[in-house]
Amino acid sequence: MHSIIKIAASIVLIAVLPIIVQAESDLPLHQKKPSEKVLIVWTGDHMQTVSVVAIATKKGIVVIDTSLSRSNDARIKRVIEKELGRSDFKYLINTHYHSDHTSGNQIYSDATIIGHKNLLEGMNQAFAGNGLSNLVDKYEARVKSFEEALTHVEPQSDQYKYGCERIAYLKMAVEDYKSGFIPAYPSVLFEKNLTIDMGDMTLQLYSFGGMHTDSDIVIFVPEEGLVAVGDMAPDRMLPSIRKELTSEFSVTLEHWGRIVESKWDIKHTHMAHSEMHHSVETFKEQYRYLHTLWHGLSEMHQQGLKIVDAKKKYTIEDDFPYFNDKMIETSSGNIHENNIEAIWERIANNKK
Ligand SMILES: [Zn+2]
Repeated sequence: MHSIIKIAASIVLIAVLPIIVQAESDLPLHQKKPSEKVLIVWTGDHMQTVSVVAIATKKGIVVIDTSLSRSNDARIKRVIEKELGRSDFKYLINTHYHSDHTSGNQIYSDATIIGHKNLLEGMNQAFAGNGLSNLVDKYEARVKSFEEALTHVEPQSDQYKYGCERIAYLKMAVEDYKSGFIPAYPSVLFEKNLTIDMGDMTLQLYSFGGMHTDSDIVIFVPEEGLVAVGDMAPDRMLPSIRKELTSEFSVTLEHWGRIVESKWDIKHTHMAHSEMHHSVETFKEQYRYLHTLWHGLSEMHQQGLKIVDAKKKYTIEDDFPYFNDKMIETSSGNIHENNIEAIWERIANNKK
């Protein structure tokens, strides 16, 4: 495009921008019910946000995760109350500490908040001291960069609609942080696992650290066949172990095996982000992949073999073809090789 026309187009876009950007109340809410007692609610047509799970149990409503904005969570809470026809919120469970999963916690002030013991430190870093003002700065900068980017994008395009939603959502989060924000920390913490009897169903909470944060947990509700996996790797990519995390990965694998091999049928795995899919098959294949590597590499290490032998022995093509068409290469390298290195390091250093 000729540069003068381009500049003219930018001015027009800048001029119409404030009209097009949605108000918070315009952001669309969506819901689905994978089973009679499980409701999932999320915000946005074009952007992805944390989708909140609500489970109707005999002993009260159990909510899994909140979002980046408590105003957004207030709207989601109203949908839950309306759809379930009750408001007896008993537990709020956070899958990990990230602010896009915990910033709306105070909306559920009557409920008991539950999380992994490392959730406290993570939330504290996010919200205490300079944490809150850092979050405000970060999201205000993001709003600015989206606004700038929109001046170069066709107004009818998906990218434009995506940007408009993100701006509205982030502005709402910033306003929420700036006034009346009180971080709501969990009062029930666990290290490895926790089982809660809800009368007609059981909540099995398992630590699942090592892949996303050291505070990750997975929630298994056997009677509903539901597994809420938080921010685990979605369908489209190979799961990745993060070398810098300190969680005992053997414990994560033990928990994973317990769920996969349980006598209960897994009908639905729920990933916390609305646009990211995570199927039951992926959940099982991810386990098979990491479990096979962990045990295979332990044996090779015991036999005095080297990491190069391990890299030669286990390939995605021959051993884990399920992941053949998934994302394996990223800007920071090959995920499969990284996993072998991460496991080898843990085994060699006698870490679990
Ligand atoms: Zn996260």
